[in-house]
Amino acid sequence: MKRQGAMPRLAIASLGGTVSMQAGSGLSAVRPELGCNEQLAKVPQLREMASLEVATLGMLASASLGFAALLDVLAWARGEVERGAQAVILTQGTDTLEETAYFLDLLWPFDEPLVMTGAMRAASHPGSDGPANLLAAAQVALAHSSRGRGVLVVMNDLVHRAASVRKAASLALAAFESPGCGPLGHIVEGVVVYRLPPGRKEVLPLPHHIEHRVALLEACLDADTALLQGVAAQGYQGLVVAGFGAGHVSAAWSTVLGQLVPVLPVIVATRTGSGPTASASYDFAGGEIDLQAKGLHMAGRLCPRKCRILLWLLIGTGRQHLLNKWLPW
Ligand code: ASP
Repeated sequence: MKRQGAMPRLAIASLGGTVSMQAGSGLSAVRPELGCNEQLAKVPQLREMASLEVATLGMLASASLGFAALLDVLAWARGEVERGAQAVILTQGTDTLEETAYFLDLLWPFDEPLVMTGAMRAASHPGSDGPANLLAAAQVALAHSSRGRGVLVVMNDLVHRAASVRKAASLALAAFESPGCGPLGHIVEGVVVYRLPPGRKEVLPLPHHIEHRVALLEACLDADTALLQGVAAQGYQGLVVAGFGAGHVSAAWSTVLGQLVPVLPVIVATRTGSGPTASASYDFAGGEIDLQAKGLHMAGRLCPRKCRILLWLLIGTGRQHLLNKWLPW
């Protein structure tokens, strides 16, 4: 139970990434070395804002995170909220932040915010953005207006929804965008301002199995079908295709995809990075009308990488038949 006037409890954990990286002496290349307490040492204000529960859960480049590790992170975060944390912050590498945030968002059952952040410049580099992002993440996490919004990504003083955020630049400081809809909010003088009220959000149960795999292949000019034909034989239980334009593939790919439909669920998304797939505009072999007639699912606004996460979690809970309901237009 919360004491009157007591500081809010904020749980913070780090997983690695540039925000935890620094250069060794005499070197300029960086690697993960800082645990969570060392990251927090650069933001002393945090200890005046909240009583902190701190954990270092990993020290990895985010390319090496995986679903099993994320389920462990989720268990830790859920435990912190159950023990009274008002919000949770995770710091990690930015390379996979758009995927990990969506993964956790689909499973986050609380009104308490789960806020994720990282850095584009390492801790030992001039102008490192990690401390500013951590402070902004805490301001967002502790704001009452952040409740009921699921998992939020805070980078560069912008707040993004897990379902729409995307790393859109490899090295730029302003690397994160929400294509098509823009950020959900921004931070001005330490206060978060949202453009929209919280929306109701459905959450998936925890997966009961995690050994299955979902493949992601990108359509490209003059691609042969050898990899597509191997998907089922390689033991994948689902497939996402990052299609051309509004969700299209070549006529040859369309034929093979049609053969895969009785074997595994297939989603076709757009590889363009912005905008929805079409549903009733193009009537050619490999166009969305043909693909839907063959039983493929069109991704709507969900990007290919997030489609793969959604499909993996749906298969893990035996809910793949509900796929269309979970694909947002
Ligand atoms: N460049 C990455 C980052 O921004 C490295 C990683 O994702 O771990 O953190």
